[in-house]
Amino acid sequence: MTVPATTVSVCVVGSGPAGLYMADALARRHAGAAIDVLDRLPTPYGLVRAGVAPDHPGTKAVTRQFDRALTRPGVRFRGNVTVDRDITLAELRAAYDAVVLAVGAPEDRRLGIPGEDLTGVHGSGAFVGWYNGHPDHAALTPRLPGPGVAIIGTGNVALDVARVLAKTPEDMAHGDLCAHAARVIHAAPLADIWVVGRRGPLEAAFTPAELSALGHLERARPVVETATLPESPPTGLDPAAAKIVEKNLEILRAFAPRPDAEASPVRIRFLFNAAPQSIEGETGVVTGLRLARTRMDGARAVPTGETLTLPVGTVISAIGYRCRPLEGAPLNQDRGIIANTDGVVAEGLFVVGWARRGPTGVIPANRADAMAIAERVSAWLANHAGGAKPGPAALDALLAARGVRVVSLTDWERINRTEIARGAATGQPRQKIPSVGEMLTLLEPDPADVGTAAGL
Ligand SMILES: Cc1cc2nc3c(=O)[nH]c(=O)nc-3n(C[C@H](O)[C@H](O)[C@H](O)COP(=O)(O)OP(=O)(O)OC[C@H]3O[C@@H](n4cnc5c(N)ncnc54)[C@H](O)[C@@H]3O)c2cc1C
Repeated sequence: MTVPATTVSVCVVGSGPAGLYMADALARRHAGAAIDVLDRLPTPYGLVRAGVAPDHPGTKAVTRQFDRALTRPGVRFRGNVTVDRDITLAELRAAYDAVVLAVGAPEDRRLGIPGEDLTGVHGSGAFVGWYNGHPDHAALTPRLPGPGVAIIGTGNVALDVARVLAKTPEDMAHGDLCAHAARVIHAAPLADIWVVGRRGPLEAAFTPAELSALGHLERARPVVETATLPESPPTGLDPAAAKIVEKNLEILRAFAPRPDAEASPVRIRFLFNAAPQSIEGETGVVTGLRLARTRMDGARAVPTGETLTLPVGTVISAIGYRCRPLEGAPLNQDRGIIANTDGVVAEGLFVVGWARRGPTGVIPANRADAMAIAERVSAWLANHAGGAKPGPAALDALLAARGVRVVSLTDWERINRTEIARGAATGQPRQKIPSVGEMLTLLEPDPADVGTAAGL
């Protein structure tokens, strides 16, 4: 349905998948609407740029769809604008007929165990952000003394981290792993990468494609304790879930200990039914991860009384994420999301994507979400938008008065071209610029051009 031309204005905060699918849906529904998409970074695409693994370039092709959204009539990208730093949510609500928060869930959930603040413990959001060039995490300098690393969590993010650590430089050559991270990872003397889950293999959230990929690595072999694998999947699962569990079990069985795995330079060791108890350290740095063995009692993992300690110098937690608090959009503290009822936060204020649902669901799940919430935004606009709000002009005036260097789509295209050119030098799709300062410097006018323009 296309709503007739109006002067409605909408501000979408966040240019990840949820925000860009939302901008696209609204632009198609409201011909003539002014839709501004803000992002705190000078770069769009959210976790497609900063989360998706560097050796999965195919997944990033989705950015072509997002580029179509960003070039639709009425849509503007406004990067390097942080809500709560450069402009408040109250100001945005006063300026636009509707505001949609698509700010994701960028904070690592804490493990809540002793030793969590030792040097060498990293959240996967920070660790992945580091190797993917997110400016917040580029300076992380993770500790990877080897030979053991423990990754806590049994979802695809844990597998991504294990794979990126296990691959050879040649395996990674055609992805966009950042040079600063490649130097550290490929120099790390890693031998045992543990993937640890407090529950069993049936409860793991891995998808079969990601799991089976670990069986095809050049220098690493996956190993799983066969004793923790059930004979058959439980009954009563819905058919789609049962299919995934069965496939995962089949793949895990093929990861049974074998002499060639023990002889390979690196092993990815799956350890199910092992709940983290504490992280051990000496002189402030990680030396081990203490675990309590568990067994499943229904959906609960209960301790068996047996414990073990993995000798590791690094612990990476991949147990989920929470939203960052935003003034004027209270959090549901239990779930770590922006409190909402079916996407509605308050009058004219909406939320979509991971900030609405929590950190689950792949990129396409955000499209379905955006379509559903766009219906609600449209209904609100139909009843409340009178064209009385100033829209983009108010944003521009406030940001100009505050001296914010707003990054436009044309600016981003310039950053993009530079990154692609830098990547070409090493045969990579791009070499990301991991610093906001460097990106903004790149956008400064060339003094020679300024001179020409001024007739000097
Ligand atoms: C490590 C990792 C790997 C993944 N790999 C895959 C994969 O291979 N395939 C797949 O389909 N899915 C993958 N996903 C899931 C996918 O990335 C998410 O489904 C999706 O990115 C969620 O979209 P979103 O728009 O809600 O949030 P995000 O992608 O996080 O986007 C949020 C955006 O909001 C911006 N923002 C935040 N706060 C503010 C503020 N105050 N002001 C202005 N802007 C702000 C951020 O800069 C960001 O650009 C992965 C996720 C992770 C964490």
